[in-house]
Amino acid sequence: MSKILVTGGAGFIGSNIVDALVEGGHEVAVVDNLSTGRKENLNPKAKFYESDITATAQIEKIFTEFSPEAIYHLAAQISVRTSVEKPENDIKINLIGTVNLLVLCQKYEVKKFVYSSTGGAIYGDGSPLPTPETVWPHPESPYGLNKLASETYIEYFSNLAKFQAIRLRYANVYGPRQNPHGEAGVVAIFSEKMLKGETPVINGDGNQTRDYVFVGDVVQANLAALKYNGSGFYNIGVGREISVNELTEKLAQTIGYKGEIKHGPAKPGEQQRSSLDANKAFLELGFKPATTFEQGLKKTVAWYRQ
Ligand code: NAD
Repeated sequence: MSKILVTGGAGFIGSNIVDALVEGGHEVAVVDNLSTGRKENLNPKAKFYESDITATAQIEKIFTEFSPEAIYHLAAQISVRTSVEKPENDIKINLIGTVNLLVLCQKYEVKKFVYSSTGGAIYGDGSPLPTPETVWPHPESPYGLNKLASETYIEYFSNLAKFQAIRLRYANVYGPRQNPHGEAGVVAIFSEKMLKGETPVINGDGNQTRDYVFVGDVVQANLAALKYNGSGFYNIGVGREISVNELTEKLAQTIGYKGEIKHGPAKPGEQQRSSLDANKAFLELGFKPATTFEQGLKKTVAWYRQ
């Protein structure tokens, strides 16, 4: 059993990780400012600190009080569009917020840092598909740039302070607790619409593809990272491209939605294709996604029905 601090632990992915850590017998604390996270997601067995990761003095108090041995860092501004509109805000939360934590990890001799990074927004269009980690990242938004810069700072601090650092580059994560009111998370948005009998609107022709990985598998990747005795960066995805049209069709079948599906204008600058090669995570962390898209959709829809 170890003491683990999860930033963003009231959010979609973070809260699913917290549940698994608590279940595994760890002592867990959550830091979250509840900007997109929800109190209902908080595990009652985890200690909760309502705080912003950029509030250095408050975060330092949490480090002294809770004395974490490991950090899962998920707290972030997650909207690519917002990052384009307000790059300085994205730098403040996603880069400076991360560096604040790293400085404290060095000072308080934390042993492990597991970071939720992105594969979808780091490599950029035109990369070979599925994209392996050997492809040089080419972020096309401040969000992707700050995730990559954070990864680099994590490497720097982990070498300096001799803690283990795992950076997990997720594909498009979907599943229970994803917020259907954001601009990202098409499974969440369309599930809610179809369940309410409202018409989902696909941006453009719907042939754009993504690699959809179920949140339960992402949790397993994070648990594998905790066990792994080393450092590295890993793609976490399925390696299969799914178009928005295919996703919409499968979701409609799962829900039993027989209504209309509309197409709207394409989003300017939207990436056309994306999928990640996660073989390195399999070879080094022993991670392999276990959930098929059909199984994941069923679990997700069952949750939204509740
Ligand atoms: P989410 O919005 O549900 O979770 C983010 C959490 O961080 C929320 O609970 C929010 O309240 C909290 N937060 C935001 N800013 C904060 C701040 N300044 N201080 C403290 N807490 C703050 O999003 P998610 O989808 O669960 O994403 C979790 C992480 O995974 C993020 O780092 C995101 O960039 C990364 N990621 C997500 C995906 C995906 O498909 N969902 C893909 C790649 C990477």
